Amino acid sequence: MVESQPPVLVIGGGGAGLLAAWRCASLGVPVHLLERNPQVGVKLLISGGGKCNVTHAGSIEEVRSAFLPREGRFLRHAFHRFSNSDLIALLEQEQVKTFARPNGRVFPLSGRARDVAHALVKLCVRAGARIECGARVEGIRVVDGRVAGVSVNGEQRPASRVIVATGGCSYRKTGTTGDGLRWAAETGHTIVPIRAALAPIRVPLPHEWQGVALRGGKVSVRSGDRVVESRTDDILFTHEGVSGPGALAISRSAAVALETGPVTLVLDCAPSLDHDALDKTLQSIITRERGKMIGTVLDVFLPNRLVPFLCGVAGVDPATRVYALTREARKAIARCLKEWTIGSIEEIPLDRGEVSAGGVSLDHVDPRTMFSRRMPGLSFVGEVLDIAGPIGGYNLQAAFSTGYVAGEEAAKEKKNEDCQL
Ligand SMILES: Cc1cc2nc3c(=O)[nH]c(=O)nc-3n(C[C@H](O)[C@H](O)[C@H](O)COP(=O)(O)OP(=O)(O)OC[C@H]3O[C@@H](n4cnc5c(N)ncnc54)[C@H](O)[C@@H]3O)c2cc1C
Repeated sequence: MVESQPPVLVIGGGGAGLLAAWRCASLGVPVHLLERNPQVGVKLLISGGGKCNVTHAGSIEEVRSAFLPREGRFLRHAFHRFSNSDLIALLEQEQVKTFARPNGRVFPLSGRARDVAHALVKLCVRAGARIECGARVEGIRVVDGRVAGVSVNGEQRPASRVIVATGGCSYRKTGTTGDGLRWAAETGHTIVPIRAALAPIRVPLPHEWQGVALRGGKVSVRSGDRVVESRTDDILFTHEGVSGPGALAISRSAAVALETGPVTLVLDCAPSLDHDALDKTLQSIITRERGKMIGTVLDVFLPNRLVPFLCGVAGVDPATRVYALTREARKAIARCLKEWTIGSIEEIPLDRGEVSAGGVSLDHVDPRTMFSRRMPGLSFVGEVLDIAGPIGGYNLQAAFSTGYVAGEEAAKEKKNEDCQL
């Protein structure tokens, strides 16, 4: 590849930036990828607990429907241009076989995120993209109302096309400190406020709960009388509150609700039973286990370390023999099992989120090209955009698909520009 003209610059070597650089370079256009870390793909390497849940199985329309409607609409075009099957085929071509778990999450068969990162780097290098690590971009240069280059490590780099793939604002130690958002704001883009998402929820809990898991419980965020969001999934109690897939899933709505007032966390330990069915189940347990203590028979609904606390809230001594349980006590236990307010949320720590919600407004980016509608020459891809999907490989797929489209479109534009010179 001959570099007669300044290359397309891609800022950020995560999933979005690597796909953009590869796609652009594979169309014969010179590309430099600038990454501030000593290596690319740092967040890819920690994704999925080091196993990297690269995407989600099913039709790409099913994948799309997991996003909020406005995000899903924005992603439609990119998802169809570079789908989950395209990603799986690309990885396979690079000898990274994948498999889908029964819950639809797709991982490399080796269970190693680094295999995914290596494959993407190899693709870029083979296509001719130049990867520069330790290159922290400080700002975007604008001349006569369009992008003219970037400043990196105190040096000016000319470019007529710049793809911003700098990620979100969580896990700042991985390099994602929101630089791209600052440049977006400086170049006239609206930034949708950044909030935590897929993050643990800080709520004061008794230390005896630490390390306890509630399988398939329903956890709800409540603001006053309103249930903001609920999720039935596994919940893990930690030293600082609640984590696990159920808690992470509702953290985004909890963070939003917390901005307007107090928010509580409510547990339903028997989500598959309505109040009547639960009362009947309790009655049959009472008939069957007459001689036992109530504290020992409730562990069919919840981990036994939590039972004394539930009994405390219900006002029932856990040592009460089942035969001696009054109707009121039984009803109180049933009420607590269905609707147990475990505490007031203190914080949803932004930095601990697997993603950050908010970012460059989708209104200011063309979903067919990823070009900015505000600043000619600029594109935005991946988590820097106002997109935050659920757990399950959705966020990486969004990064890969938007990166692919931006790389391809930047290559087309660059070829046109160079022809006119
Ligand atoms: C612990 C954890 C686990 C996760 N697990 C999964 C999972 O299994 N599946 C899934 O789909 N999603 C997962 N995610 C989310 C997913 O990793 C991100 O949504 C995705 O990596 C975003 O890709 P990106 O390319 O937009 O940004 P990033 O991967 O964050 O890349 C942005 C890059 O830009 C660089 N950069 C920033 N500023 C500058 C600058 N000024 N100059 C140069 N470079 C700069 C950064 O160093 C970084 O390397 C996880 C996230 C975390 C934190």
